[in-house]
Amino acid sequence: MLPSSGPIRETAMSVHITQYAVPTPTLPPADSTNTYVIRLGRRAILVDAGSKDRELLDTLVRHIDALGVTEVVALVATHYHRDHTQGLPYLQSVFQCPILVHELDLASAIREMGLPDGAPGVQPLPFDMQLSEASQEPSEPALKVLFEHLPGHTHGHVHIYVPADEAVLVGDHLSGMGTVWIGPPDGHMEQYYRTLEALMSKRAVAAGPGHGAPIPDAAAAAREMLLRRLQREEQIAACIAEQPLTSEELVAQIYGSALNPGAFFVAKRTVQAHLQRMLEQGLIGRRFTTANRFVYNKR
Ligand SMILES: [Zn+2]
Repeated sequence: MLPSSGPIRETAMSVHITQYAVPTPTLPPADSTNTYVIRLGRRAILVDAGSKDRELLDTLVRHIDALGVTEVVALVATHYHRDHTQGLPYLQSVFQCPILVHELDLASAIREMGLPDGAPGVQPLPFDMQLSEASQEPSEPALKVLFEHLPGHTHGHVHIYVPADEAVLVGDHLSGMGTVWIGPPDGHMEQYYRTLEALMSKRAVAAGPGHGAPIPDAAAAAREMLLRRLQREEQIAACIAEQPLTSEELVAQIYGSALNPGAFFVAKRTVQAHLQRMLEQGLIGRRFTTANRFVYNKR
């Protein structure tokens, strides 16, 4: 864990979306989590807040004030992980609005935020929201914000799509800093591939990742990520074609001894997610040994 220090970086991502990179204890090499403000005039929706440092959150609130926002209608979490949710309860006390999480991640989010079971201020996400100005003429269009349930990193992971801006906030499914990890039981590689394919079908759309700078072409980044993951599966298949291996042995063969302990955990979980997918697809076999271990073998 890195200390949460340093300034908040503001980036105008699109017409209605501003990104704030807030220093947050998260998985290295990332050292910040992005909070996004989706805004129409004085009304806004906030997406993700991972730091629970009051001083940083107060600074973030001042940034949001400076945008001219007077009403935050909802705080949305892309998924339940604490580096995306821990700041939400404090922001809720400031803005007096619901925290919205996909129902499959709802109970875990409440736990990660340290709130009591069934906290009434944490509610399931609707399919979409319309942001409209308080003083708006009926003829002015509202800003449509769509919540797309796309699992992979967690079961209740969502993307937040703003069609008017050709922009989508993708949480931990793409990264502008470091890597994306997929690990069972929350992470599911085949679902992640479906999610990447959904991103690949979006034309000329920018992605706002959970960590790092905005990504200009979501489809290209998703294609690159899918290729990298498929190459990893080819590598796993080649390793176990030589001899049956446990997941730990596979991680050692693939990554060598260069991994630090933090990275080993993530690498191992991601290799396990690949192995799970390859088993489900019938690409490899597995047996339980007398040493109480699973070994993976070619079929
Ligand atoms: Zn995450």
